[in-house]
Amino acid sequence: METQHPDVEKILFSETEIQSMVKRIGKQISEDYADKDLVLIAVLRGAVVFMGDLMRSIECPLAIDFMAVSSYGDGTKSSGVVRIVKDLDMDIKDRDVLIVEDILDTGLTLKYLMKNLLHRHPASLEVATFLWKDVEGRETAIEPKYVCTHCPDEFVIGYGLDYAERYRNLPYVGILKPEVYS
Ligand code: 5GP
Repeated sequence: METQHPDVEKILFSETEIQSMVKRIGKQISEDYADKDLVLIAVLRGAVVFMGDLMRSIECPLAIDFMAVSSYGDGTKSSGVVRIVKDLDMDIKDRDVLIVEDILDTGLTLKYLMKNLLHRHPASLEVATFLWKDVEGRETAIEPKYVCTHCPDEFVIGYGLDYAERYRNLPYVGILKPEVYS
């Protein structure tokens, strides 16, 4: 039994559940990219925890790199227009790129990023997301190839995901108590 942080109302995915989901995805990626030239690209900062676990569950050779983006807009809604704050250090031309993302909500951020990366002519470009937020009646702007799990339309924290830069270090994914926001 995990100790629940006092600000957390409910744990959605436990550490044990997360570890087995990530291993499952890692195994699939290992098979799919066995004879490819794999580069994992994590989007900072939320995806670092997933990246750390995922890369260790992939058995084929790989390289890693990082990007940081900042969204224009009011900060609560995704505008789909992002600014690259930190670009890749690596040339991805002719390489098999897999973007590693913490959570896919509207998908607009990744859609923009993928368009940008496609201009660099990778051999392939796919997405692995830890969470995919289901919102009824709404299509996501992109289709991820790998998904650890779907997640309800709630604001979630933990396992890399923050609220005001806090809670990224929680080993599980949870929902905050309403009084934490007010
Ligand atoms: P999208 O462009 O897909 O709407 O936005 C994706 C980004 O919004 C994620 O990478 C993440 O930074 C942020 N985000 C979306 N939903 C949540 C959530 O429930 N919790 C947290 N902490 N961040 C979220």
